[in-house]
Amino acid sequence: MRLDVKGIVNTPGGGVEFNEELDFSDVDFGGVCPAVRPVSVVGAVRNIAGMLRLTADVDTTLSCVCDRCAAAFDKPFHLSIERLLASELEDETNDDILLLDDGAFELSELVREAFILNMDTKTLCREDCKGLCSGCGANLNVEACRCQKETDPRWAALRELL
Ligand SMILES: [Zn+2]
Ligand SMILES: [Zn+2]
Repeated sequence: MRLDVKGIVNTPGGGVEFNEELDFSDVDFGGVCPAVRPVSVVGAVRNIAGMLRLTADVDTTLSCVCDRCAAAFDKPFHLSIERLLASELEDETNDDILLLDDGAFELSELVREAFILNMDTKTLCREDCKGLCSGCGANLNVEACRCQKETDPRWAALRELL
């Protein structure tokens, strides 16, 4: 989605507002695409004393799979974006300022980039998720491990000797 801010580039005090729903359902994190629902992007670009400042609130509910116990769960996602925009850059290597292309920029690309950078590298259903037992496969959040109860015959034999 291309947002045109040409009209306010030379108008201090001017602003362009936006309220969009973006589709990031193809954004893949290790085989999981958590953004199954529309991503709401609400914000504005304002000309503040000649500088163009973009602010946006990004919200959605992600559909996640826990890295430890494989449980599926929903997680609210919120992100506040703030970027400066400019029609020309004095320093081409400045990544903090987004260069406008003929007075416009790709809003969805900017938000997509920020969305990917702000995804958690670890997805846990809860901070202290105990995960699955590698031995018996029990979900240790809801059931006890069954491993210890299965006595190893070698230990039983050893106990008899003692
Ligand atoms: Zn979990
Ligand atoms: Zn176990």
